[in-house]
Amino acid sequence: NIRTITPESYQSDSISPSPDEGIEEEKPVAEERPGPVQIVRANESDGIFQLDAAALEKILLQDHVKDLNLVVVSVAGAFRKGKSFLLDFMLRYMYNQHSDAWIGGDHEPLIGFKWRGGCERETTGIQVWSDVFVVEKPDGNKVAVLLVDTQGAFDSQSTIKDSATVFALSTMTSSVQVYNLSHNIQEDDLQHLQLFTEYGRLAMEETESKPFQSLMFLIRDWSSPYEYDYGLKGGQAFLQKRLQVKNCQHEELQNVRKHIDSCFSKISCFLLPHPGLKVATNPKFDGRLKDIEDDFKTQLAELMPVLLAPDQLVEKQIGGSKITCKDLVEYFKAYIKIYEGDELPHPKSMLRATAEANNLTAVAGAKDLYGKSMEKVCGGDRPYMAPADLERCHEAFCKDSVTFFRSVKKMGGEEFCQRYQDRLELELKEAYTNFSKHNEGKNIFYAARTPATLFVVMFF
Ligand code: GDP
Ligand code: MG
Repeated sequence: NIRTITPESYQSDSISPSPDEGIEEEKPVAEERPGPVQIVRANESDGIFQLDAAALEKILLQDHVKDLNLVVVSVAGAFRKGKSFLLDFMLRYMYNQHSDAWIGGDHEPLIGFKWRGGCERETTGIQVWSDVFVVEKPDGNKVAVLLVDTQGAFDSQSTIKDSATVFALSTMTSSVQVYNLSHNIQEDDLQHLQLFTEYGRLAMEETESKPFQSLMFLIRDWSSPYEYDYGLKGGQAFLQKRLQVKNCQHEELQNVRKHIDSCFSKISCFLLPHPGLKVATNPKFDGRLKDIEDDFKTQLAELMPVLLAPDQLVEKQIGGSKITCKDLVEYFKAYIKIYEGDELPHPKSMLRATAEANNLTAVAGAKDLYGKSMEKVCGGDRPYMAPADLERCHEAFCKDSVTFFRSVKKMGGEEFCQRYQDRLELELKEAYTNFSKHNEGKNIFYAARTPATLFVVMFF
C-alpha cells in the first residue's frame, strides 16, 4: 500500500463521510494541520453573505505567498454532484506533484474537503484549502495555487439567488472555474452564465482583455462515450455542439451562447465516466480507490494535469493585470459587498466594485514601493540624513510610486482613477512626514537636547 498523502494527511476530522452533523465544537488545535476553511457563508436567518476576512487573510497573507501571483481553481455547480470528492483528488495531485503515484494507494480513504452521501444540507458558501501550494512554472516563475470548493443548492426557487451568488462570486475570484455538471449541459446551466456575459461585455468596453480566464464544463457520469469519447477531446466536440446557436432557441439563450466566448479566454469541456455503484450508492464507501471504477480513475489521471500541471496553471488576472494573493483579499472584500443585497447585483455594480478594488490594490502596491525605497535610504538601521537629501529622495520615490500606479491597468476611467491617485499622493505625503520625524530622531544634535540621550551620547 503506497502512502502518498502528506502533510500528515490533513485534519483528523476531515475524514469523510462524516457521521455527525451536530453542534460544531471549537476544539483547541494543538498543531495546525491543513484543512478546509469556510471563508464565505450565507447567514441562515437572512441569507446575507458574509466574508470571513480574517480567515482569508490568514491564508493569503502568509509571508511565503502574499506577493506571489496566484492561480485560483474553483469547482462550482449543483450540490451533491461530487465537487468536493473531485477536489480531494486535486489535493492529492498538489501534495504529490512530483510523483506518478499521486493518486494514492488502493485502500486510502479520500480526505480533505468533506464529501458525503445522503442528502443533508450544507452551509451555502465557499471554502478554501488552508495550504496555498507554491508551484514553479516552466518559465521559472513561482505561483501560488489556491483550491476553492463551493456549496450551493441550485434546487429550489428559494435557493436560486444564493447559489447564483456563490457561482458568481467564485467565478469572479477564480482563474479556473470548473463548472461541475451531471450527465449533460442543460439550458439552465447556461443561464447561470448569463450574468457574466453581460458583465464581460461592460468590462471589455474598458479593457481590451477578456474578464475571465478559464471555464471548464466538467460533465460527470457521462453515459454516451460512443457518441463523444471520455476526456478532453470528446468534451470539446460535445461542447461545440451544445453551444451552437440555433434559431429555435430562446433569444436570451442565443445571446448567452454568443457572448460566453467573449468572457472567457479559454472554454473547455471534459467528459468523466460514472465512478461506479459503490461510489454513488454505498453508504460505507470511504473514497478508497479499490472501490472506484477503472475508467473513472483513468480519466481522473488525465484530468488533473489538464487543470493543475505547472505548464497549465493560469494566473488570475483582473482588468488585464495579474494579481497577487494579497490583492485577492481586496477583491473578495469588494465583491462581497455587492452581494449583500436581496437581489443579484447588476453587472454595472460588479464592474464598479472591480474598478474600486483595481484602484485600491494599485494604491497599495504603489505605497509599498515607496515605503520600501524609503526604508532603504532612511529605515531604522540607516544613519541620519540631511533633511534636504531626504526630501530629494522622497520626491524621486514619489514620482516612481505614481508612475507605478499609473502603469497598472485599471478600470473605472480616468476621472475615477485620478481620485485614487490623489489619495495615493496624500498618503505618500503622510508617510514622508513620518519618515522625516523618524530621521530627526536619529539626529544626534537634536536628540542630545534631552538629558537622557545626552547621557547616552556622552557615555559612548
Ligand atoms: P458535492 O456536494 O458536489 O461536493 O458532492 P460530494 O463531493 O459531497 O459527493 C456527493 C456524493 O456523490 C458522494 O456520495 C460521492 O460518493 C458521490 N460521487 C462523487 N463523484 C461522483 C461522480 O462522478 N458520479 C456520481 N454518480 N457520484 C459521485
Ligand atoms: Mg461539497
